[in-house]
Amino acid sequence: MTAPPKSGAANAASAPRTRCDVAVVGAGAAGLMAAICAAERGRSVVLLEKSPRPGLKILISGGGRCNLTTTRSGSDLEAQYGARRGRFLRHALRSFPPAALRAFIEAAGVPLQEEDLEKLFPVSQRARDVVEALLRRCHDRNVDLRLEAAVVALGRDGDGFVLSTARGEVAARSVVLATGGLSYPKTGATGDGYAFCRSFGHTITRTFPALAPLAVGPGWVRELQGIVVHDVAIASHDANGKLLCIRQRPILFTHKGLSGPAPMDLAGDIEEAEGRGGVRFDFVPGVAADELERQWLAATAGTGTQKVEGLLPPHLPARLRAALCGLAGCATSTLANWSRDSRRRLLTTLKDLRVPVARSLGYDHAEVTRGGVDLQEVDARTMQSKRTPGLYVCGELLDVDGPIGGFNFQAAFATGRLAGLHA
Ligand SMILES: Cc1cc2nc3c(=O)[nH]c(=O)nc-3n(C[C@H](O)[C@H](O)[C@H](O)COP(=O)(O)OP(=O)(O)OC[C@H]3O[C@@H](n4cnc5c(N)ncnc54)[C@H](O)[C@@H]3O)c2cc1C
Repeated sequence: MTAPPKSGAANAASAPRTRCDVAVVGAGAAGLMAAICAAERGRSVVLLEKSPRPGLKILISGGGRCNLTTTRSGSDLEAQYGARRGRFLRHALRSFPPAALRAFIEAAGVPLQEEDLEKLFPVSQRARDVVEALLRRCHDRNVDLRLEAAVVALGRDGDGFVLSTARGEVAARSVVLATGGLSYPKTGATGDGYAFCRSFGHTITRTFPALAPLAVGPGWVRELQGIVVHDVAIASHDANGKLLCIRQRPILFTHKGLSGPAPMDLAGDIEEAEGRGGVRFDFVPGVAADELERQWLAATAGTGTQKVEGLLPPHLPARLRAALCGLAGCATSTLANWSRDSRRRLLTTLKDLRVPVARSLGYDHAEVTRGGVDLQEVDARTMQSKRTPGLYVCGELLDVDGPIGGFNFQAAFATGRLAGLHA
């Protein structure tokens, strides 16, 4: 993490000072969109980016393909962010839904296509095309983009603001903070915006890594490394065993624990449970436990030397089937000597296997940050700070996060747009 930025009254440096209507800090999805929208309203815009490359997270997203958004809409879309965050995002998402983001990006020269799980990607499969399209828009609207221009201090200057960067000062009538969260710090997101917001009286809710692989203790999980399972449900639970989130998406067993879309979606909950939560597997989500037992009893009637393992559903890889039988204590049982207790243990192992999970692999591996600028202190219709007029906050810097599936870019673009329309 870089040294925390200075905030409060900024230093008057000897470097040249630029004046503009709007200074946008951070050239990620939210900042690029805010800059474009402000410039389209005729505002003079300076876009300040810490790293040498703008839109770095867009470039690495979706394995370099960029899952830009989703085809979900309306209240179903809002619900993906949870009740409180979804309520805050309602105006942003309704005024700029996924269909509008799609139209915007396609008009900028990047056709999109729908893939599995309602995800939208560039037809070219190149995230780079999205960044280049956004940069072309910035260029065409005369956005003054400055790279390697980390904002190190932000303060009031009369009714406006002054921002100090290594490349000089910028005086602006309003400021849009789009500095992202703490995840993937090597991309430039090191939490600078939190300190700026705090200095203007904002509360920063506790932050946690989210959308990250899970570090799982029990050896049997790590021994299954390399296995991918489909058609399996996994759910997070808190310290009291309360079910938090359930996902039926691919799961990858790794040498550290669990990865893939489903476990990653649960990481934020696991982190919030602070070592007292865990996950539950249902390896046969389509069949109730009593129905499964009935099927087993019918299949075992009159049979003898066949191993119990042969009864497990074929969609489970052989190594996983063996591990589950081992956990249930029936690895060597045959159908003939299979006891009722053992059958019940295997049922529980298949339908409700609980595994304590203390943490995720952390911010270095987390696609987003949960927590951030308190939503109660930001006007949901404009993204303007309720503490400091003229200051706007958008994107992942806000206490907003969504699951895998294009929901995080959708929120970043939609909130960035509102900031740009009002700053
Ligand atoms: C590996 C990975 C894959 C992902 N895949 C997807 C996906 O497919 N779909 C999806 O919806 N989401 C995905 N995400 C999440 C998505 O990238 C983020 O939600 C989104 O980028 C947030 O946008 P943002 O503009 O708010 O922040 P960021 O993209 O983090 O941008 C913030 C910018 O601010 C700059 N900055 C920070 N501090 C300063 C400062 N002091 N001065 C100047 N500039 C500063 C940073 O350098 C950075 O460029 C992925 C994330 C990762 C890490």
